Amino acid sequence: MLKYDVIIAGGGTAGCACAYTAAKLGLKTLLVEKNSFLGGSITSSLVIPAMKTSENAINTEFFSILYDKLYSLDGAITYSDGNKGWFNPELTKIALDSLLTNAGVEIIFESEIRNINKRLSSYIVTVDGDNLFSSAKKLLPSIETKYLVDATGDAKICQELNCEFLENKNSQPINLRFIMSGVNTKEFSDWLMDYDSDRNVTTSCEQGGYIYLSTAYTWDNDKKWALAPVFKQAIEDGTLKEEDSNYFQLFSVAGTADAIAFNCPRLLNSISNPYVEGRASILRLSNFCKKYLPGFKNAHISSIANSLGVRVSNRVKGKYVYTVDDLRSGKTFKTPVVVSNYPIDVHSDKKDASKLEKVYKEYQLPIESLIVDDNLFVIGRCISADFEAQAALRIIPSCFSMGEGLAKYLAESN
Ligand SMILES: Cc1cc2nc3c(=O)[nH]c(=O)nc-3n(C[C@H](O)[C@H](O)[C@H](O)COP(=O)(O)OP(=O)(O)OC[C@H]3O[C@@H](n4cnc5c(N)ncnc54)[C@H](O)[C@@H]3O)c2cc1C
Repeated sequence: MLKYDVIIAGGGTAGCACAYTAAKLGLKTLLVEKNSFLGGSITSSLVIPAMKTSENAINTEFFSILYDKLYSLDGAITYSDGNKGWFNPELTKIALDSLLTNAGVEIIFESEIRNINKRLSSYIVTVDGDNLFSSAKKLLPSIETKYLVDATGDAKICQELNCEFLENKNSQPINLRFIMSGVNTKEFSDWLMDYDSDRNVTTSCEQGGYIYLSTAYTWDNDKKWALAPVFKQAIEDGTLKEEDSNYFQLFSVAGTADAIAFNCPRLLNSISNPYVEGRASILRLSNFCKKYLPGFKNAHISSIANSLGVRVSNRVKGKYVYTVDDLRSGKTFKTPVVVSNYPIDVHSDKKDASKLEKVYKEYQLPIESLIVDDNLFVIGRCISADFEAQAALRIIPSCFSMGEGLAKYLAESN
């Protein structure tokens, strides 16, 4: 029977960091990913940029190595606020392929783990996929792994194992992101910096001859949104529906002269088919941009995310349930895997009901919130944390830290 030290289900944000670090530390590592590429939310849901977090963050080596690799491919920038998380999603796929395979991770795409059986100190699984490459066919029979890591974003492995889950009665809206290319970023930036004269929500900078920028608008009244008049007009003339204006945010795409990524539409919880309604909203938003935003006249939709961006996931009950009180009080732990100061970021699809609660102390997530049993672990947005704590911990840098921190723990325990 084939044997691994660690099998990771899910080659997304947390799973890649875990697989890379585990292999680098000498663990025989297999990564099983359901898509045909790595990166998870970053690549399949087009979630960019990674949020800026604390200077004192720990387990940040994978983030730095990915940044350096992407930078060498012209696929990452450090923004003017010092944030290194401006990644190019397509180049992220290529960078991750290279980093992980060179580290010695064995990767099987378009596959899932099935028939999971717990033994005394290991798990026996099979790998199931429609499109297994010939080299991987030999993996189809049973495989034994000492450690099994659920990095599926939604705790799919733990569901299959009937693990205990935390109550999940609150929700947050989902997004379907998209990218427009062919934007005259100079024209757009000149107009925007002038239009948002107090620079309330708009930033712009130049790097390597390209202009990079960001701006936002929401239907909440918590800020003076510079774009409010154009949204009002577009709703009045029928270019947009009112719900299209509930959340609008855009960022340039690193390494491109003319591509803008949109963190929207944010879809109301009541809709029945988020992909159909999301894509219809994307068409309206792109027409809005072309009609109302200087620089977009010749722009086009160049990419729509393969997967919805899902903020709230199933959360497994681990050895320790991390709470928002732990987070607010900055409780310290013997073996932290994440240190962060990112706010509690709860989106709502109701007007004026979203919150971004600042934290006043850095907080630590303990390894125990990733441990389900001695051989089963969970990383990423489905960890053992309550709803509000997860709303702070789900950002990309923290998911990287969880993956890296867990791999170090496993290598030490092995
Ligand atoms: C709309 C939205 C906007 C966000 N904006 C930001 C932002 O601006 N900055 C930021 O830092 N964070 C942001 N986040 C948060 C962040 O992107 C995610 O929480 C984080 O990337 C989740 O990482 P993960 O590893 O848990 O899951 P993912 O990165 O989603 O990875 C899960 C992986 O598991 C795979 N998978 C699923 N099921 C299986 C299976 N059965 N077998 C094998 N593989 C499987 C998936 O294909 C995927 O590759 C945002 C999130 C959302 C939803």
